[in-house]
Amino acid sequence: MPLLARMLPSPLTIDVRRGAIASLGSVLADRRIATEGRIAVAVGPGQGSQIAADLDLPNCEVFRVEGGSVDVATELGKKLRSGAYEAVAGIGGGKTIDVTKFAASMAGIPMVAVATNLAHDGICSPTASLEHESGKGSYGVSMPIAVVIDVDYVRAAPQRLVRSGVGDVVSNLSAIADWELAGREQGEPVDGMAVTFARVAAEAVLHRPDSVESQDFLTVLAEALVLSGMAMSVAGSSRPASGACHEILHAITHLYPGVSNHGELAGVGALYAYFLRTRHQGTGEAAMRDIRACLLRHELPVVPADIGLDEEQFARAVAYAPQTRPGRYTVLEHLALSEDEIRRSVGEYVTAVGR
Ligand SMILES: [Zn+2]
Repeated sequence: MPLLARMLPSPLTIDVRRGAIASLGSVLADRRIATEGRIAVAVGPGQGSQIAADLDLPNCEVFRVEGGSVDVATELGKKLRSGAYEAVAGIGGGKTIDVTKFAASMAGIPMVAVATNLAHDGICSPTASLEHESGKGSYGVSMPIAVVIDVDYVRAAPQRLVRSGVGDVVSNLSAIADWELAGREQGEPVDGMAVTFARVAAEAVLHRPDSVESQDFLTVLAEALVLSGMAMSVAGSSRPASGACHEILHAITHLYPGVSNHGELAGVGALYAYFLRTRHQGTGEAAMRDIRACLLRHELPVVPADIGLDEEQFARAVAYAPQTRPGRYTVLEHLALSEDEIRRSVGEYVTAVGR
């Protein structure tokens, strides 16, 4: 019998629970990760330094990282290389984790992701999103060797940041719809395993009646974000978690820097993409209703005004969106609406989904 199977790059350990951070010491002492215990720790401006101090890890050097640029990541990568460290732990939010992932790949050492909030699905993914001179780029990096998410620390993070992870994970449904469209229209191969992970992650969060004040909800959200990262690892790209929703979010951050955050924008982008599907393709009505209800339940934005944009500005971002990800076929590229049609659709969208 032929033994056909594929290997999936995935972390050696995933630890999501209250008090998980206490296990970091033993994770780092795992001799598969570091044989001599030469460990570096990168911390962000948030809770990271306090955690590093509390952990009292012997023989480990702490590096402070500010911001999420390629320059910061390269600087850290050089230090890791010159210090001949065996492994690095990145403790903090999305930016710190992305910077550390990139630096670890550059130094050729394993990286342990210790997430202190749940703002997006980059916690356990083989990509790092970093700022450069002309915007933001997505860089292929090694998957974290271990992922530690302490639900107690997540609970202490700013609630708005934690909630925004909901927008990122439910946007998977829109990304999958785009992928399936590209499969039908362009013959793009759709990976069923990646779709399975991405969809189940979104569905796990979509209908839950509780929110970020509940430990159970935080655990499910954390696991859903890990599963989204695994979907990207299976696909070898961000395809299962990034379609028109993320093209719109990247266009907004490019045109209006500082507006809102990743997860909130992904949620609005997904809802608008579903509006286009229902209006022009006659599909996705139930998903649109569910996503809208979910975003509202978690007090997330649904219309441009919620993120401080007027309809004209949002329409400009939608028109610009396909340029943020050349080669990715989504409902936006498929419909190829004119600027006038986009402007009209944004008006109708606000009427349809506004509170
Ligand atoms: Zn995302």
